Amino acid sequence: MLSNTAFPDRPSCSSYSNISARPAQADDIQISILDELRQVIFETDSRGQWRFLNRAWEALSGRPVDAALGTSCLALVHADDRQRARITLDQLLSGRRDRCRLELRFLDADGAVRWVEVVARACVDVSGAVTGTVGTLFDVSDRRAARHQRRLTAGVFSSAGEGIIITSADGLIVDVNAAFEDITGYARAEVLGRNPRLLSSGRQDKAFYRDMWRSIEQTGSWSGEVWNRRKCGEFYVERLTIAGIRDEDGALSHHVGVFADITRQKQQAQHLEHIAHYDPLTGLANRSLLADRLQQAMGRARRHGAGVAVACLDLDDFRLVNEVHGHEAGDELLVALGRKMQDAVRESDTICRLGGDEFVVVFDGVESLLTCQPLMTRLLQAIAEPVALGEARVCVSASAGLAFYPQGEDIDADQLIRQADQAMYDAKMAGKHRFCLFDSQGYHVMVARAEEIEALEVALARGEFALHYQPIVHLRTGELNSVEALVRWNHPTRGCLPPGEFLPALEGHPLMLALENWILAEALRQHQRWLDAGLDVAVSVNMSSAQLHRKDFADDLRALLAAHPRVDPRRIKLEVLESSALEDLDHVSDLIAYCARIGVGFALDDFGTGYSSLRYLKQLPARRIKIDQGFVRDMLHDPDDLAILEGIIGMAAAFKREVVAEGVESDAHAAMLLQLGCLLAQGYGIARPMPPDALPAWLGGWRLPAAVAASPPLERDDTLLLKALVEQRAWQAAYRDGDHGHPCRTPSPAIQAFDEWLALRGRKQAHSEESVRRAVACRDAFAAHTDPMHRATAPHADASASCEEASLAFAAVLATLLGQCGTP
Ligand code: C2E
Ligand code: CA
Ligand code: CA
Repeated sequence: MLSNTAFPDRPSCSSYSNISARPAQADDIQISILDELRQVIFETDSRGQWRFLNRAWEALSGRPVDAALGTSCLALVHADDRQRARITLDQLLSGRRDRCRLELRFLDADGAVRWVEVVARACVDVSGAVTGTVGTLFDVSDRRAARHQRRLTAGVFSSAGEGIIITSADGLIVDVNAAFEDITGYARAEVLGRNPRLLSSGRQDKAFYRDMWRSIEQTGSWSGEVWNRRKCGEFYVERLTIAGIRDEDGALSHHVGVFADITRQKQQAQHLEHIAHYDPLTGLANRSLLADRLQQAMGRARRHGAGVAVACLDLDDFRLVNEVHGHEAGDELLVALGRKMQDAVRESDTICRLGGDEFVVVFDGVESLLTCQPLMTRLLQAIAEPVALGEARVCVSASAGLAFYPQGEDIDADQLIRQADQAMYDAKMAGKHRFCLFDSQGYHVMVARAEEIEALEVALARGEFALHYQPIVHLRTGELNSVEALVRWNHPTRGCLPPGEFLPALEGHPLMLALENWILAEALRQHQRWLDAGLDVAVSVNMSSAQLHRKDFADDLRALLAAHPRVDPRRIKLEVLESSALEDLDHVSDLIAYCARIGVGFALDDFGTGYSSLRYLKQLPARRIKIDQGFVRDMLHDPDDLAILEGIIGMAAAFKREVVAEGVESDAHAAMLLQLGCLLAQGYGIARPMPPDALPAWLGGWRLPAAVAASPPLERDDTLLLKALVEQRAWQAAYRDGDHGHPCRTPSPAIQAFDEWLALRGRKQAHSEESVRRAVACRDAFAAHTDPMHRATAPHADASASCEEASLAFAAVLATLLGQCGTP
C-alpha cells in the first residue's frame, strides 16, 4: 500500500497543496480514490525521480509502484523520445517552464511501446524553489492509432488515382475525392448532396442497375464496367466497385464507390482487336474473323438445324485495273466494292476479304443453296455497277462459288471454303461474272480421280506399267498372225491390274497421252527384242480416241519409227475403236491413209458395237476389223449373234477387209468361226495375254486343235445347217430353263433352216443319202413333239423325256451333216 510516509518531505505545490494540507485520514481516502483512476497520477522530486505514483502505473507500465519509486522518471521512456523528455523535464525543474504537455513512448514490462500523454507542472515551495513535478500519464496508444488510421484514410482518399464517391444511405453524394473531380470534370462542391445519377450515360438499361443494386444488397458489393458521361458530355468507361458501409448496429450508413477510368485501355484493346480481325484496307472482316464467324455459324447450324452458305468470290480481271489505273486506284476500287458488298448483303452476313481481290461471304441462317441465290445475284450485280475512280469510271465483275452446310457427311470450315472455292473456279471456267453451286457428288468423284491420276503419274515415272501380249492366230494354218499389246499395271500392293481398273480414270487426261506414248515405244522396243531373238512378231497397239485425234500424232509416229530403224512399219498395227474413229471421220481416214503410206496398218476394234454402217466402213480404209467379243461369246447358241457374225464377216469380205474374232474361248468357237469364214482369232481358248518372255514357249507348244482344223469354211448354203444347229441349241437351252409351256416356237426355226437347206442341197452332193435320210427322220421325230396334236395324245412325262431326246438327236445329225460339208 502506497503511503505518504514513504515521502515525508513531500513538498506542496499549488495544485496539490489542498490535498496535502488535509488530515492524514482524509489523505488515505484521497490516495485510494487516486488509485481508482485510469490515469496515472504522479509526483517527482526535484531530481526527476518518482516520488508518488498511483495504482494506474502498474497497468500502464506492467511494473509495481514500489519498484518505480525513487527511480528516474525517464527510465522507461523510449530511447528515441528520451532526449526530448529530458529537455522538458530540465525546463520544468529549472523553473524555465512551469507546465508541459507531450506525448512520449514508454516501454512496458513486456518491452511493448505505449504512447503516453504526459501532462505535468512544476511544484514550487513558498520560496519559489522548484521542489519537483506533479502530473498525469495517460495511455493514448489507441487514440493515436485511430488518429493515424484516420490520417492514412484521408491521405488515401485525397491522393488516390481512383475516383472515390461516398453516398449516404439515401443515395446522395456525401464526399468525393480529387480523382473524382479529375475524371468526371465535376468540382466537389458541385456534386455534394446530389445523386450520382448525374454521371449517367444512358448506355446501361434499367435492368443493369437493378442487378447491380441487388448484388450490393445481397453480397455487400458489386463490381463491373460502367459507361458514364463527364461534365463536358464525353462518354467514358470506368471499372467500378461499390460497397455498402454499415454502422456498428449493422444499419446501412453509406455506399462507397471506387472507380478507375479505363477508357484508354478499352480503346486500345478495341484497336488491337480491330487490327487482329479486320482487313486494314477495306475494314471488312479478315481471315481470322471469318474462321471465327464461320465456325460459330456452323455450330448454330448443327444445333438448330438451320444452314450456312459460304460464297467464295473473286473479281474478274482485277489485275487490269491495277495495270491501267495504278495500284492506288485499285485499292480505292476495293474499298468501294467492299462498301457496296456490305450494302448488298444482310446485316447477319459476314463479308471477309482474304487478300487481293478474293472475298468470302458467310450467309448465316439460310435454308438451302436455293434461298441464297437471289442474295448472290444481288451481290454480283452490286459489284458490277460502275465505280468512279477520279475521272475514270471502272466496271469489274466477279465470279463466285457457293457451298452449303450441313451436307451428307461432316465437314469442317476449311473444307466448306475449299468447296466454295472449287465452285468459284467452275464459275470462272464457265465464262466469269456468274456463280456456280458446289456439287458435292461430282466433287468427290473429282477428288478421287485426282488422287488416282496422281498415283498413275507416279506409277509411270517408276516404270510400274508393263505390256502383255495376246496372240492372234490363223485358224486354218495355226500360224501366229500377230500379237495385241495390252497394258498392265504392276501395282506395288494390288498386284497386276488389268486396264479396266485404271484406264477409265485417265480418259481425257493428258497423262493418258504420256502413257500411250510409252506403250507405243515399248511395243516397238519389244518387237525389236523379239527380232533379236529370231522371232518376227507383228504387234498391234491400242490407241485411245484422244491419241487418234491428236493433230501431230502422225509426225510423232514417224519420228518413233525413225528411231527404231530395224522395225518394219508393216509389222505394226494400230487398233482404234470403231466408235472413236467416227468422231472425226475426215481426220481419221486421212490419218489411216497417211499411215498406210508409211506402212502402218489400222484395225477397227470392237466392231459391231458402233454404227457398223456400210458407208462408214467404206470411208475408213482400215485393213482389219475386229469383231467384238460380245458377239463371239454367245455365237454357239444364240442365233441372233450368229446372224450378226455372219453379217459382219460377209460385209468384211465384200469390202475386202481382214476379220479377227475376239473372245474365242473354245475350240467349238474357233471351229464355227472358221466355218463362217473368219480366218483370224484371238481369245482365251487360244492363249491368254502373256508377258513377252512367255511368248516363245507358248509358240513352241501351240498346235491348232484337230476339231478346228477339220472344220473348213462352209459354202454359203451350208451355213443354213449351222443356223439350224444354233437354233436347235437355243431351243434346248430354253427348254432346260423350264420353258416347257413353249417347248418350241412353231414352226421351229431350226426345222425351217434345215428344210431350206434340204431344198437347196440338191445341187451339191457333199452329203451321203444315208445321213440325209437320218436327219430327216430326226427332224420328223422332233417335229412330232412340237406338234400340239401329238403332245395331246402322249402321256406328259414320256412326252417331255422323248422331246428332249428328239431334240438332242436332231442337233447331233445336224452336226454330222456340218462335219461332212466341204468333204467331197
Ligand atoms: P480390247 O482392245 O478389246 O482388248 C481385248 C480385251 O479382251 C483384253 O482385255 C483381253 O484380255 C480380253 N480378252 C481377250 N481374249 C478374251 C477371251 O477369250 N475372253 C474374255 N472374256 N476376254 C478376252 P484387257 O487386257 O483387260 O483390256 C481391256 C481393254 O483395255 C482393251 O480392250 C482395250 O480397249 C483397252 N486397252 C488395253 N490395253 C490398252 C492400251 O495399251 N492402250 C489403250 N488405249 N487401251 C488399251
Ligand atoms: Ca484391242
Ligand atoms: Ca476389242
